[in-house]
Amino acid sequence: MDFVRAKDVAEAIAAKAERPDAEFLAGGTDLMVAVNLDDHRPQSVIGLRHVAELQQMDDTRIGAGVTWDRLERAPQRALAQAARTVGSPQIRAAGTIGGNVGTASPAGDGLAWIAALDAGIEVASVERGRRIVPWAEFFVGVKRTSLAADEMITAVVLPDEQIEAQEFAKVGSRNTMVISTVSCVVARVGSGYRVALGSVAPTPMRAFQAEEMLNDETSPSPAAIAEFGRLVAAEVRPITDHRSTEAYRRHAAGVLAGRLLERCLSS
Ligand SMILES: Cc1cc2nc3c(=O)[nH]c(=O)nc-3n(C[C@H](O)[C@H](O)[C@H](O)COP(=O)(O)OP(=O)(O)OC[C@H]3O[C@@H](n4cnc5c(N)ncnc54)[C@H](O)[C@@H]3O)c2cc1C
Repeated sequence: MDFVRAKDVAEAIAAKAERPDAEFLAGGTDLMVAVNLDDHRPQSVIGLRHVAELQQMDDTRIGAGVTWDRLERAPQRALAQAARTVGSPQIRAAGTIGGNVGTASPAGDGLAWIAALDAGIEVASVERGRRIVPWAEFFVGVKRTSLAADEMITAVVLPDEQIEAQEFAKVGSRNTMVISTVSCVVARVGSGYRVALGSVAPTPMRAFQAEEMLNDETSPSPAAIAEFGRLVAAEVRPITDHRSTEAYRRHAAGVLAGRLLERCLSS
């Protein structure tokens, strides 16, 4: 296995252009698990830990190399809530948002937040420079993205919109160190509500019918909140697997969405 330690984005994408089969290594909390289990043995690895640009974040842009322990203190409330649920302190010290996006697991805890805020994924290559891919075009299936073989993820980019309220919660088989059975983010953006979910479809998803119903209400009543939860439960596309059943995931998605909406309404 050959290893390139990139010192900046230019060096990282040049290395990737030369070795399209190479894997990027950020915190290694997904990649090294696969290597250790012998699931995956990349011929070349491009290390990103020394790329200073990827560590930067501000209100509109979160570098791919920002770790979960830093995101625990992020100004974006739902992202900070999500960060606090990722793995253990050791995992949060190493794991990054870019790695979460790169793995593109339906259970990635950063992904519902990205979908709720309509964020884009900034990618870079020698051939095409930088471009921002809308989240819905980036995540294309279970652990599948539209990232080209010569590209890397440089940042999560937030649209210039006023987020009035945002709440995250997840359900799992225990309270800590747990992969999501369902995760959910509800956000109030301007005067409209958005709801995004993880672990209930091959990719992160929005429940657009539930959003539309809610956004027709000027001041949602308890009946409208219940209907919102019902519509979310109807819209998700979960499966039964070793972590949960399709029926439980559907139920939990509706309950979580309703609770998070109530929290947004009272904030
Ligand atoms: C014990 C344990 C508990 C965990 N708990 C959770 C949890 O609760 N919630 C959760 O969401 N995840 C969890 N994870 C998974 C993992 O920690 C996260 O997905 C983390 O965000 C991965 O980031 P990383 O920097 O370690 O990625 P890496 O392992 O370095 O990379 C992951 C993938 O992304 C690619 N990649 C990384 N950076 C880039 C880049 N800049 N451009 C292109 N591709 C890139 C890599 O090539 C690789 O394919 C857990 C993992 C472990 C081992």
